[in-house]
Amino acid sequence: MAELLKGKPIADKIKEEIKNEVESLKKDTGLSPRLMALQIGENASSEVYLKAQVNTAQGLGIEYILKRLPKEATQKQAEEEIISLNKDKSVSAVILQLPVPPQIDAKKLVNLIEPAKDAEGMHPQNLGQVLLGKWKLAPCTASACLALIESTGVNLYGKEAVIVGHSEIVGKPLSLMLLSKFATTTVCHIATGERGVLPEHVKKAEVLVVAVGKAGLIKGDWVKEGAIVIDVGINKVADKIVGDVDFEEASKRAGFITPVPGGVGPLTTTMLMKNTLEAFKIHNLKSR
Ligand code: NAP
Repeated sequence: MAELLKGKPIADKIKEEIKNEVESLKKDTGLSPRLMALQIGENASSEVYLKAQVNTAQGLGIEYILKRLPKEATQKQAEEEIISLNKDKSVSAVILQLPVPPQIDAKKLVNLIEPAKDAEGMHPQNLGQVLLGKWKLAPCTASACLALIESTGVNLYGKEAVIVGHSEIVGKPLSLMLLSKFATTTVCHIATGERGVLPEHVKKAEVLVVAVGKAGLIKGDWVKEGAIVIDVGINKVADKIVGDVDFEEASKRAGFITPVPGGVGPLTTTMLMKNTLEAFKIHNLKSR
């Protein structure tokens, strides 16, 4: 039976480290990290994430300020807002809350955030640093997956890692992170599924990460004995939240498996705070 890989204990440990560092930096510089969240319009689902971000930041001594623009805001207004946050020396990091109203081009806004203030690690310059294996600000969910994998103590050198899903926020950056650790990395996507070879790839995975958003996509008997299974998927099935992996069957074969909910989720917001602290250090410590 697999060991349950819960996100909370790992998140708590990282949060303790962030909190201590924030306190000591405050003593040294008299300043605290400040995360600015830009929300355009209102959205019930993003309110839940907002609350989690506010609570996490508060517990760590990170100042969290929410700037709301009305749902009718224009692209130009939103761009002006980002430019002004970039110029504001008191702002350590910026996050654009998604989704945005249809008249707003979110990607253009993210690309406008100063790379060293990019709390979500989604600016092309920061993604480029991931490609080079030298990241400071990496995409939060991909970092959360890596932290979960590394918490098992596995040596990734030469391991077969398979990622299902090639999105920009999870699969692509994580594949580069695992590659930088010398894992032999395979990335599966829609065409892998359409060709009917997804089981064949999954079966060889010693480290399996699934980030698709389709309940029951990965059958339990595809999972290799002893594998580390990170299930990023969030799906609502009959009022229950489940992942993309058939948890019950997979946990009979895996060595480690994340629960859904309670696996990747609790770590993602922590990684946002870790990036905020990193951004603060980039701006305020001269040696960096
Ligand atoms: P996304 O942008 O929709 O990407 C999904 C990926 O899955 C795409 O690369 C897609 O390929 C691929 N895919 C679709 N059907 C497939 C199939 N049958 N076989 C293999 N690959 C297939 O989604 P995302 O933003 O990465 O999120 C993925 C899941 O993770 C969602 O359930 C989301 O809610 C969850 N999530 C959780 C957290 C967390 O903190 N826990 C954070 C982020 C996301 P194509 O692009 O080629 O179609």
